[in-house]
Amino acid sequence: MFARRIAVIGTGYVGLTTGACLASLGHTVVCADVDADKVERLRDGKVDILEPRLDDLVAEGQAAGRLSFVVGAANALTGPAGAAEVVFLCVPTPMGVGGVADLNAVQAVVEEVRDQLAPGCVVVNKSTVPVGTAQRIHELLAREDVTVVSNPEFLREGSAVHDFLNPDRIVVGCDTQDAAEKVAALYSRLGAPTVLTDAASAEMVKYAANCFLAMKLSYVNALAELCERLGADIGDVTEGIGYDHRIGQAFLTPGPGWGGSCLPKDTHAMLQVADSADFEFRLLRATIETNNRQRQRMVDKVRLAVTGSRTGSLSRVRIGMLGLTFKAGTDDLRDSPALAVAALLRQAGAELIAYDPAVPSNSAAPELAGVTVVDEPAMVAKDVEALVLLTEWPEFRSLDWSELAGAVRQRIVIDTRSLLDPDVLRRAGFAVHSLGRN
Ligand code: NAD
Repeated sequence: MFARRIAVIGTGYVGLTTGACLASLGHTVVCADVDADKVERLRDGKVDILEPRLDDLVAEGQAAGRLSFVVGAANALTGPAGAAEVVFLCVPTPMGVGGVADLNAVQAVVEEVRDQLAPGCVVVNKSTVPVGTAQRIHELLAREDVTVVSNPEFLREGSAVHDFLNPDRIVVGCDTQDAAEKVAALYSRLGAPTVLTDAASAEMVKYAANCFLAMKLSYVNALAELCERLGADIGDVTEGIGYDHRIGQAFLTPGPGWGGSCLPKDTHAMLQVADSADFEFRLLRATIETNNRQRQRMVDKVRLAVTGSRTGSLSRVRIGMLGLTFKAGTDDLRDSPALAVAALLRQAGAELIAYDPAVPSNSAAPELAGVTVVDEPAMVAKDVEALVLLTEWPEFRSLDWSELAGAVRQRIVIDTRSLLDPDVLRRAGFAVHSLGRN
């Protein structure tokens, strides 16, 4: 493998993982961020996000002299080993007005580095962006000697390092063969199948993958509702279909709706991309609508379980929430379905108390406004009318349910993740309500 001098712009889930992993593969990497405090902490070896092995890789890279941190994208272009040959863009592309992808951070970085890129440099976009963005970056750069490559990232939060180093595939899109091969070669030690394509197709792969996963989840959530009405069991149904290798077992568990920092914004952005191409993407629109409805359905379930009526009032009803993050294994609260359900419960007048192993009670996250967060699972049960499990943290399975039964006002559990053993809960005196089964 040919070791390269690399700059990585943005040190979030994707950028820091990319930088640390590329350094572990032997490349020399300078990571940049606009957040000077974060850079300072990273220089001290402190990683803010919950990602297994990431802090070890950061420490190893720094100790080997192959990984360093700077403030400001332009400062990453000249590292200890010389000018960067490859520059990765790993900045946020959040949902903008009307659902379009907000490309301001990408644009800001491109403008910042434009005149300082070394001749022959390759700019690699890893941020998730609409088709045509590589072309737009190329036009903004206005440099004929610089090539733009699309290299979407597929890592999952909570297993980012593992996923980066063991990818199902690498996708590299560029209209110039040399640059595409140069980027693919950065990963050659990983031995992953590599799809070399044009930039537009590579950009499309990322949205296509995320929209497909969202569609699968909306499908299973709709199936679960139908199972409830027909007296079938969604667990058995998904097991039955999941053995079919054309379908697969993954992403077949019903839940409170999909969320997180990627699926909501990427499905909306894809819808906008389709609109701009004058294509009515009905399947995707239904996927999003099904998801919005799913969150309200969770509130309806709580209402029915607690009040015994579909129209009962939740005003001043105290509800205990188990889980806040958008999935287990991460501390990320962005677009968490647990918080979307919480917002609807609050709108209905409920009082919310919550426990999540990754969210401390003193968290200042703005998403938590209106929710009282506690540090012990036992505290979440005190005097509540129902416990609602919203994130699939495995440790919830082994809670002391007899102790919780002694603390609640009503022994009701709504398990929106099909995580808990209903027999254990019933033995502790709880009535258990789950999705897709009676
Ligand atoms: P993030 O919010 O965790 O991190 C982004 C970082 O970029 C932040 O540290 C921020 O301070 C920094 N930044 C913003 N503007 C900057 C600038 N002008 N110069 C330097 N740094 C700047 O975001 P993320 O989750 O890592 O996502 C980054 C991109 O990767 C997004 O497009 C996202 O859709 C995509 N993606 C994310 C995931 C995921 O699981 N998080 C997976 C695949 C792809």
